[in-house]
Amino acid sequence: MRGLSDIGTIKDILHRHGFTFSKALGQNFLINPSVCPRMAELSGAGEGVGVIEIGPGIGVLTNELCQLADKVVAVELDKRLIPVLGETLAEYDNVKVINADVLELDLNKLIEEDFSGMEVVICANLPYYITSPVIMKLLEDKLPVTAITVMVQKEAAQRICAPVGSRESGAVTVSVNYYAEPSLQFHVSAGSFMPAPKVDSAVIRLDVRKEPPVITDEEKFFRVVKAAFSQRRKVISNSLSLGLKMSKDEINKVLAAANVPSNARAEKLSLDDFAAIAGNLRD
Ligand code: SAM
Repeated sequence: MRGLSDIGTIKDILHRHGFTFSKALGQNFLINPSVCPRMAELSGAGEGVGVIEIGPGIGVLTNELCQLADKVVAVELDKRLIPVLGETLAEYDNVKVINADVLELDLNKLIEEDFSGMEVVICANLPYYITSPVIMKLLEDKLPVTAITVMVQKEAAQRICAPVGSRESGAVTVSVNYYAEPSLQFHVSAGSFMPAPKVDSAVIRLDVRKEPPVITDEEKFFRVVKAAFSQRRKVISNSLSLGLKMSKDEINKVLAAANVPSNARAEKLSLDDFAAIAGNLRD
C-alpha cells in the first residue's frame, strides 16, 4: 500500500485494527513521506539484494524496500501488527513477516534459509529502548551482511559515528568501529513521527568490514574497551585496574609494554592502542 506515511491513512488503518501505540515497544511510526524512500535508497536495497528489516510497524519502510529489493524479511515483535502488515503489504510477493523478538532470533540461520546466494543488507527504524543491544548483536553475530542502515536517536548516532580518539567517543564507538565503518547520513526531526518522541533522530549507515582493522584477541580487546570506558573521568591506569581487577603496578607494566601513557584517557586511545593493551594482557 503506497502513501502509508500519510497521517490520515495511518490513523484509519490503526483505528480499523483497534491498535494503540505501545511506549514499551518503542512505537513511534514515521509520518514524514521523504524519510523512507531516502533510507531504502541508502541501505543498498536493489536488484539481487535481500533485506532484513527490524520492527516494520505498519510497513511504511517495508513498502519502499519491497519496491527496490529482490526479497525482504521483516521481523516484528508486536503480534497485533501482523494482520496490519498483511493488509499494507498485500500487493508484494517478495516479503515475509516474522513475528519474533530480533534479540532472540538466529539471524545467521535466517540468512542461510531465506537469502541463500544473495547479498544481504539490514535496514530499520530501530525501537530506541534496544538500539545498542540490537546494533551490537547484528555486529557480534558476524552476519554475512554488507551494510546496516538504521535510524537511532540523534545522540546515539553522534556517539556511534564520532571519530575513535575524539572526546565524543565511547565504548560503543570503539566497538562499532571494530566491526564496521560508521557514517552519519541525515537528521530526522521528532515531528516526523507519530507519536512524536522527545528527541530528534538520525540515520546512520554501518559498512561492515570484511576484516577487523586490528589484529587482536577479540575477547581481551572488548574486555579492555569495556573496562577503559567504565570510569570515563579516570585516567586509563585507574579505570583498567578497577575494571580488570589488576593491581596498578601490573596495569602500568601492560601500558608501558603497549606504549600507552598511564595517564591517558580512554577516549583519546586508538583501536591500535586498545589492541596493543589487549595483546600485552596475560591470560
Ligand atoms: N518501521 C516503522 C516506522 O518506521 O514507522 C516502525 C518503527 S518503530 C520506531 C519500532 C518498531 O519495532 C515497532 O513496530 C515495534 O513494535 C518493533 N519492535 C520493538 N521491539 C522489537 C523487538 N525486540 N524485535 C522486533 N521488533 C521490535
